[in-house]
Amino acid sequence: MTDLEDNRPATVRFAPSPTGHIHIGNARTALFNWLFAKQRGGEFVLRFDDTDEARSSDAFAEAIRADLEWLGISPDIVAWQSKRFDAYGAAAERLKAAGLLYPCYETGEELERRRKLRLARRLPPVYGREALKLTEEERSAIEAEGRKPHWRFLLPNFADDPFETRRTEVHWDDIVRGPQTVDLASMSDPVLIREDGTYLYTLPSVIDDIEMGVTHIIRGDDHVTNTGAQIALFKALGSEAPSFGHHNLLTSVSGEGLSKRSNALSIGSLRDEGFEPMAIASLAVLIGTSESVSALPSMAALMELFRPEFASKSAAKFDPAELTSLNRALVHDLSFDDVNTRLAALGISGERAEAFWYAVRGNIDFVKEAEQWWTIVTQGLSDPEPLDTGDVDFVREAFAQLPPEPWDANTWSEWTNSVKQASGRKGRSLFMPLRLALTGRRSGPELADLLPLIGRAGTLDRQP
Ligand code: GLU
Repeated sequence: MTDLEDNRPATVRFAPSPTGHIHIGNARTALFNWLFAKQRGGEFVLRFDDTDEARSSDAFAEAIRADLEWLGISPDIVAWQSKRFDAYGAAAERLKAAGLLYPCYETGEELERRRKLRLARRLPPVYGREALKLTEEERSAIEAEGRKPHWRFLLPNFADDPFETRRTEVHWDDIVRGPQTVDLASMSDPVLIREDGTYLYTLPSVIDDIEMGVTHIIRGDDHVTNTGAQIALFKALGSEAPSFGHHNLLTSVSGEGLSKRSNALSIGSLRDEGFEPMAIASLAVLIGTSESVSALPSMAALMELFRPEFASKSAAKFDPAELTSLNRALVHDLSFDDVNTRLAALGISGERAEAFWYAVRGNIDFVKEAEQWWTIVTQGLSDPEPLDTGDVDFVREAFAQLPPEPWDANTWSEWTNSVKQASGRKGRSLFMPLRLALTGRRSGPELADLLPLIGRAGTLDRQP
């Protein structure tokens, strides 16, 4: 059985650092996890990787939670790494006692110099474990100068002598990319704790994944090389590594990576622009996969389509224009019940609201665009495009032929048929002046639908 065929309930986690707003690329990771877990009746942990206390903030954490809720993701558990330093300290002590976490004192310049030297000797530019050779006295002397150690994890890539590394393959069956292999001899022992005692992301993440019972780690493919070292760390901490899945990343149209610090494509700004959550969720999940991109109406529909392995291997370009066309497709299918509350907030309510919604939804990209049509229908023209002077008399004569009320969906054709006969006009020269007179726009919803909403008195108010 491959990891992908394992259908037992999954526990997954989405682990953003709350140092900015999440963007569509982060939403992809969150949704891959959410859909995967919920397909298997599992749990979704939202874990804030906030060990960098200077850059993390509660406000960003709250915003991330709100953005996820809005997208349709309600975490089963929420956790903060900043509340778990005791657990990390205890695990670090265990690793130190086992000789698997060792102190190093090199400065950045020293490491760079050695790296160049190794490259010149055609050796792989990995850390040579020089700090392991320090005697107790040498270490005390360095510390007496006031220097503090950073701590590296000793990778299990040797038999007896850590200075004689040998090819050590770590394999995993990636639920997105298929079988993967990383050689632990090709990488440096990772630093787990900095000079100032703060943790890099690796150790807290692995400890949390163990203690929270995470069964599947699904994240961007920028983490593939980390995974080899992390699997070794899981083992060093006495635990089996969970399954992994690494999905392709999204880039901007020009190919740059998306950044949490640039607000441009944040979920919050897309929401403020009026995008539907399912437009964003559909694109965030389906782009860069073997499935074609379409607007799915619900998370349940997306769940039916989702398979982690459908993601392609190369990065996918995210084009905001594509998002607009998905939004349009969703808006065209929204029922009045779906939007009633939002329309009321735009001032669209009362007897005419439902018929109005069905009249305009096919002509707008965003729900909020209904507002301008409501103003046109209920209050009259706003900033209209002028009629051609040659059409003014024609429109006046047409208005004189308006049928008496009650008006319904047939009124428009009855009226324009009689205007056609009287004037001899047809096609565009018949309809465009009437459209302009009624709405002040050259395009828009069907006039057969709008006319009864405008009503006879409202129509006569528009007479040029
Ligand atoms: N905080 C890490 C990140 O945002 C989490 C990576 C992971 O999912 O393991 O890159």
